[in-house]
Amino acid sequence: MSNKPIYVTRPFLPPLEEFIPYLQEIWDNKILSNGGPFHQQLEEALCEFLGVKHIALFTNGTIALVTALQSLRITGEVITTPYSFAATSHSLVWNGIKPVFVDIDPNTFNLDPARIEAAITPQTTAIMPVHCYGHPCDVVAIQKIADNYNLKVIYDAAHAFGVQDAEGSILRHGDLAVLSFHATKVFNTFEGGAIICPDAKSKVRIDQLKNFGFVDEVTVVAPGINGKMSEFNAALGLLQLKHVCLALASRKSIDAIYRENLKDVPGIRCLSRSEEVVANFAYFPILVQPDYPISRDDLYEKLKDNGIHPRRYFYPLISDFPMYRGLPSAQRENLPVATAAAQQVLCLPIYPGLTDDDQRRISQLIAE
Ligand SMILES: *Cc1c(COP(=O)(O)O)cnc(C)c1O
Repeated sequence: MSNKPIYVTRPFLPPLEEFIPYLQEIWDNKILSNGGPFHQQLEEALCEFLGVKHIALFTNGTIALVTALQSLRITGEVITTPYSFAATSHSLVWNGIKPVFVDIDPNTFNLDPARIEAAITPQTTAIMPVHCYGHPCDVVAIQKIADNYNLKVIYDAAHAFGVQDAEGSILRHGDLAVLSFHATKVFNTFEGGAIICPDAKSKVRIDQLKNFGFVDEVTVVAPGINGKMSEFNAALGLLQLKHVCLALASRKSIDAIYRENLKDVPGIRCLSRSEEVVANFAYFPILVQPDYPISRDDLYEKLKDNGIHPRRYFYPLISDFPMYRGLPSAQRENLPVATAAAQQVLCLPIYPGLTDDDQRRISQLIAE
């Protein structure tokens, strides 16, 4: 048994010597930011890898979310999920938008389309769902509601790098989809993010908004932000992309082993996934149900005592944060499924390099 703590994720890093030539090139050509050669190459490489037409790179996923909302001029109220990372709702508040929380589906943990219509008011302008854990939302049902009520759809796709449904990348859905390339994600540029744009025109506007609103040297058309990805981060992305298929394959086998190890443990439920989906195995959530001998938090402490550090994604719910809990939609009676999920979920360590031995030990600690 190793004494090193095992975290829920460990960033994947290719050998350092493979990065040196990229650094040399940056040092030689002295272009550090503002859409330099690596930035351009990474946009092209990601479009090809992900199977999308247009992408705009960002300094992180949160600024990308904020900018996505700006680019579509979203105002008023936006329907979103409480079962996500803080940035989902925070990006609304940074635009002066009121989040309206709607409960999640008990099987997918994504926004429940059946509950969206009841939350629509004359102020509603958009829906911001999350492909939670990389499991695709019910994109067809959500789009139908959006079309009926003339709403925009912005997907927080921070977990969904590389995920495909039967017809291709799930990032093609909605008016815009936003990725995060944070260190903890399946594909990372240390810090980074992107917006998947449906057409060249929307990419032009988004590229202006992430660069202070500049159109050219003397023309500023909007109060844009500085959301540009640097050449250093873009170079990291190009290097990571060379290894991402191996990283995904490694995650897939870890996922399969957990499912096998835990399938007969009473009180532990692994989230199922759709057969039609090409998954990215970004997370391995389990539910610690009432018939498990100890509570979720006791299991969490027990694992920590043994050097394993799972995460309670997502607990607390966003709607329970002090800046949101006063909203009518944030009340727990409105969010029973999300409230129960937040009490039961535990995300187990999953990352390339997690050893078979460690995985066996984690499974045994849960099963014993
Ligand atoms: C990671 C994450 C973000 C934020 O991305 P950053 O790149 O860290 O700013 C947003 N939404 C979700 C669901 C995330 O998991």
